[in-house]
Amino acid sequence: MHAMTAPRTRLQRTNGYDPEPFDVPPIFQSPSRPGAMVTWFITAFLWPQSLLWIGIGALTYHVFTPGLDRFATLGIDDVSILWARNVALMLVVIGGQHYWLHIRRAQGMEFKYEGRWLATNRKSFTFDDQTRDNMFWTLVSGGGIAAFYESVMFGLYADKAIGQLDALWAIALMTIAVFFIEGVHFYANHRLLHVDPLYRWFHALHHRNVNTGPWTGISMHPGEHLLYLSLPFVFLVIPGSPFLVTFSLVYLMLSPSPSHSGFHRFRIGKRHTVHGGDLFHNLHHRYFEVNYGMLLLPMDKWFGTFHDGSLEAHETMKTRRRATPDADDTGEVIADA
Ligand SMILES: [Zn+2]
Ligand SMILES: [Zn+2]
Repeated sequence: MHAMTAPRTRLQRTNGYDPEPFDVPPIFQSPSRPGAMVTWFITAFLWPQSLLWIGIGALTYHVFTPGLDRFATLGIDDVSILWARNVALMLVVIGGQHYWLHIRRAQGMEFKYEGRWLATNRKSFTFDDQTRDNMFWTLVSGGGIAAFYESVMFGLYADKAIGQLDALWAIALMTIAVFFIEGVHFYANHRLLHVDPLYRWFHALHHRNVNTGPWTGISMHPGEHLLYLSLPFVFLVIPGSPFLVTFSLVYLMLSPSPSHSGFHRFRIGKRHTVHGGDLFHNLHHRYFEVNYGMLLLPMDKWFGTFHDGSLEAHETMKTRRRATPDADDTGEVIADA
């Protein structure tokens, strides 16, 4: 325990799993506790998910991506190769989680936020089925637009139109920085997407999903993908490299799958569990007007839209809502439907 937080009560709303309320990372707490920061960096930030994205990013770039030369003149075949690679990668990583958790139901309802499974036979989804809907938007629009953006950036590097980092230490530092840059980028584009008409045109498609699964992660309208996947263009203004472009896109395509998986922790064998879902973002799907960003960089805390999963934060959110004109348009009604 530390001095920063007042006593908090666990929010008990669903008939599923309700974890303890969470804190912002130690790097953003005061008073500062260097020991806690180091422990957090290794055991909460790096292990296991960030290391996994960096590993898959490196493998994808070095083994499954063609050399830069062919991108000097950009053609439909170059984009198609990267698209096919993205589809294969997502079928393995996202499809693997979907199979294990939602088809095989290997851990049953253990650590599952919602007490129900994904929707079938529901008209609000494309093909009347949540999983097919989510797979379609993820693989076709998400995988396609990511491939296009990667090809464009590779073209610029191939033409030497932009400079690139060469030193391994610089690339390693920038790899870590990408996670935090995305904290700003995601908060900004996501907050924008909650403003009408952008919400109705684009973002409502992602929010069809209140109860989420691995394929929900980047199940987005192409209009949202154009914004969400634009992170690698940051390397037009700060130093980057072709690896960092591929890594950024791999991270954007894959990391939302555990966070939307619906399970707070993943069981590994009989005795061990690892960090799985993201209660922070799960609360966004339940209540809409909280937690626009990522817990890693708590922009929501700084801009007053933070929900830490406690009853106290819940009351604060309701008070804020009553003060807005469309107060009866609350997420709770939809979330409990
Ligand atoms: Zn989401
Ligand atoms: Zn949203």
